[in-house]
Amino acid sequence: SSFEALPLAAPLHRALSEKGYTTPSPIQAAAIPVLLEGHDLLACAQTGTGKTAAFALPMLDRLSKMKSRPQPYSVRTLVLTPTRELAVQIADSFHTYGKYLRVNVGLVYGGVSQRPQERTLKGGLDVLVATPGRLLDLYQQNCLDLDQVETFVLDEADHMLDMGFIHDIRRIAKELPPKRQTLLFSATMAGQIAELATTLLRNPKEIRI
Ligand code: AMP
Repeated sequence: SSFEALPLAAPLHRALSEKGYTTPSPIQAAAIPVLLEGHDLLACAQTGTGKTAAFALPMLDRLSKMKSRPQPYSVRTLVLTPTRELAVQIADSFHTYGKYLRVNVGLVYGGVSQRPQERTLKGGLDVLVATPGRLLDLYQQNCLDLDQVETFVLDEADHMLDMGFIHDIRRIAKELPPKRQTLLFSATMAGQIAELATTLLRNPKEIRI
């Protein structure tokens, strides 16, 4: 099957064909329709399977239908990922696939000055890609509003737990609206991940690649 068969907004099809993507990877073929329908998702998938586009494309499709700009300090799609490198890659993917859409993508991670990140948040964002520790710091300093989050993505959840982010993730999740779409990606589904999935996801569709 081809990307053309997926009901994504025309500006996304255009960006994909420009990128030279013709066929969705297995995780994309499985996840995109489920996410477009608004379901929660628990996906067992390694890096390199195309999982970034599997969540970025349906999120961008949803954002393409928004009539208004995000409110100052608010965020519509929140993506948590364990490292700065991954955060940069994910934000790049949103920019690449969203190239023909008007979406504001922000990026925050630790180990660098906070001031420019505060300014980014002030404008309001369609997508915020963040590492958990810095996001929580900024939240606790009232630099962002999590009340408008519609979609919450946990990328590489197993690595986030290995890095000791479990408490930060739970603190952040507690601040999100209960009515939201939640996606959890992990290479393994052992113990703590399954537990986290049970508390954060509602009737998730499950995909194993
Ligand atoms: P990821 O697993 O999201 O890190 O993606 C792995 C790599 O595959 C990235 O370099 C993507 O640009 C590329 N990629 C993702 N989806 C596709 C696709 N459907 N066709 C060709 N390349 C892709």
